[in-house]
Amino acid sequence: MAAPLAGDLSLIYNALLAAFGHQHWWPAETPFETMIGAILAQNVAWTNAAQAVRNLDAAGMLDPHLLAGADAGEIARLIVPSRFYNQKAERIREFARVYVAEFQADPAAMAAVEAETLRKRLLALRGLGKETVDSILLYACGKPVFVVDAYTRRIFSRYGLLPEGASYDHMQRLFADNLEEDVALFNDYHAQIVFLGNTICRKSPLCDRCPVRVIGGTLRCARGQA
Ligand code: SF4
Repeated sequence: MAAPLAGDLSLIYNALLAAFGHQHWWPAETPFETMIGAILAQNVAWTNAAQAVRNLDAAGMLDPHLLAGADAGEIARLIVPSRFYNQKAERIREFARVYVAEFQADPAAMAAVEAETLRKRLLALRGLGKETVDSILLYACGKPVFVVDAYTRRIFSRYGLLPEGASYDHMQRLFADNLEEDVALFNDYHAQIVFLGNTICRKSPLCDRCPVRVIGGTLRCARGQA
């Protein structure tokens, strides 16, 4: 496997941006909606999570105080489209309780906490894994934390920049060690990866349509050349 060369990740991002345009993530009206959306998006397509967010909103429940005091069954009924709704209802209620009790339901108060301290606190909540917590840190709190996921593993292992079984931490280090800490860049880069993984670098990749298959005649995807 080729060692990641300085600049390769920037070249890949620039090619994705040129091909797909800015992705304008996270698709939410408020930081709290982003936080709840990140929990609802666990293990499902975004369309499912988005429908659950809309249901909460339509019921007037996209409110931290209401969710903190709600019956879990009531939340579950509204978030059925997100699947695993009973588990997610518990997670959302617990998260809302902490958000109210420790951060006064104020996104600025949460964002004021140092990134690693906040990350540890949120990871201690039941059912909130690294991808969910890092999504909250980056997209709701504006922290320079790179979010990685299964699409990242698939694309960058095919590219030859990660091993196939790369851990979350290993993937995250690839980006953290090779990119400037830049919230706007981290925001859109992850969104581009998700878009590429959804549309082109699928389980059966459509390499002939891939904007990063060859970049500038020198940088090439290892799998795309097969
Ligand atoms: S060239 Fe093919 S395997 Fe490589 S990133 Fe693009 S779609 Fe995926």
